[in-house]
Amino acid sequence: MGIEEKAGNLGVVTTSLETVVNWGRTNAMWPLLFGLACCAIEMMGAQGSNYDLSRFGMELNRASPRQADLMIVAGRVSRKMAPVVRRLYDQMPEPKWVIAMGDCAACGGVFNNYAIVQGVDEVVPVDVYVAGCPPRPEALIDGIMMLHEKVKREKISGVREDAPIRITSKNQLIQVK
Ligand code: SF4
Repeated sequence: MGIEEKAGNLGVVTTSLETVVNWGRTNAMWPLLFGLACCAIEMMGAQGSNYDLSRFGMELNRASPRQADLMIVAGRVSRKMAPVVRRLYDQMPEPKWVIAMGDCAACGGVFNNYAIVQGVDEVVPVDVYVAGCPPRPEALIDGIMMLHEKVKREKISGVREDAPIRITSKNQLIQVK
């Protein structure tokens, strides 16, 4: 009796290490537990039962940056807060990603004044921008799925796809050159 008869039809699955690693990264992204302003309420809404971020393996918002790999900057960043945001980012282990949620985080929004950072990309590198004031939970989830697509194209050699993605309020995608 051959091995096939004993073990049954096992089938064969082939894949690359890179695909498996990126699959793992996208299905267990843990966001850092912090919010800066009104956009954070929509971010919390995305965690609720209606939108259920747990579907993406993201139910664990980590209270420690050392256990998080996704920073969602939800709300305006004041000049006073900017060094704190940077410190939190620095304390997150590699690989790590950043979503700028809302107009304020992306470009200062309506707060065109000396107290507010005119885009959190002055402080940390941003992977995906989600437009809106505030963006609805669907828009944030769309941004997260775009980030997943981006991560799936990354090389485990450490080479990152650096061009950020913008999602406009009409859910159009713009790849920033
Ligand atoms: S984009 Fe709008 S909702 Fe979000 S923090 Fe700014 S003012 Fe608040």
